[in-house]
Amino acid sequence: MSRAWKGVVAFLIARPLIAIALAAAVVGVLWLFFTHRQTTPVTHRAERVGLTDKQQMQLGAQQYAKTLKEDRAQIVSSGPGYVEVQRVAKRIEAVAAKDKPNFVWKVTLLRKNEANAYCLPGGKIVVFTGILPLTRNDAGLATVLGHEVAHATAEHVAERIERDKLTRIAVAIIAGGISVTPGQYAQLVALLGIGGEAASLPFSRKQESEADHIGLIYMARAGYDPRQAVAFWKRMLRASKGKEPPEFESDHPSTAHRVKAVEGWLPEAERAGGQG
Ligand SMILES: [Zn+2]
Repeated sequence: MSRAWKGVVAFLIARPLIAIALAAAVVGVLWLFFTHRQTTPVTHRAERVGLTDKQQMQLGAQQYAKTLKEDRAQIVSSGPGYVEVQRVAKRIEAVAAKDKPNFVWKVTLLRKNEANAYCLPGGKIVVFTGILPLTRNDAGLATVLGHEVAHATAEHVAERIERDKLTRIAVAIIAGGISVTPGQYAQLVALLGIGGEAASLPFSRKQESEADHIGLIYMARAGYDPRQAVAFWKRMLRASKGKEPPEFESDHPSTAHRVKAVEGWLPEAERAGGQG
């Protein structure tokens, strides 16, 4: 990197607001060039994602294969829990497939004591046995699967990956592309507010709330009683007090707030259920 660039970097690091404004401008331009616009199902929100369906499926399939290999001994392939998960997932997948016909849906139940489940980009679902005492019945499980599958159909991972990737490119451009010290890089990244947690890419509050909304409509479309979703979230509220939150409430304002929001969407869900 030239001395001039080093001067620019030093200048920017000393003046965070200018650095942020410049980075925001670069991200804005990159964002328009490298992403495509799409609309989320149910909520009809316009979002920009930078991965095609095929890329999302590849990404999810890779992660899925890795998980199944690592947790091979924990895979549950018979018994009532297995049968229930397959039965409910099949109905939720059929609904979600209407929004994402390219995705290849598959669910695996893992013997883990944690109350959690997730759906990878492209349609691969993992459920832990620890969630089943909380879901209690098919409608409760459909609530969880609806929420997780909604993250995939709304392309939430692709939306966040793209933002993070573009921000990194912007940082690199601003810093001259090469030979910024790790300390300077970290400082620029911190200025942009993306922190060091990029690898895990937690969903935003907005995405969590959107997954609740879409998931509720999905479970209703799949023929389950949406009021059971409210009952499930109330059980979650009681169970999660004082514990580390699982994925589906990783960044939610509060489970109490979530119960209220879900109740607000009930009329829409009941109409969706009526349509079959
Ligand atoms: Zn979630």
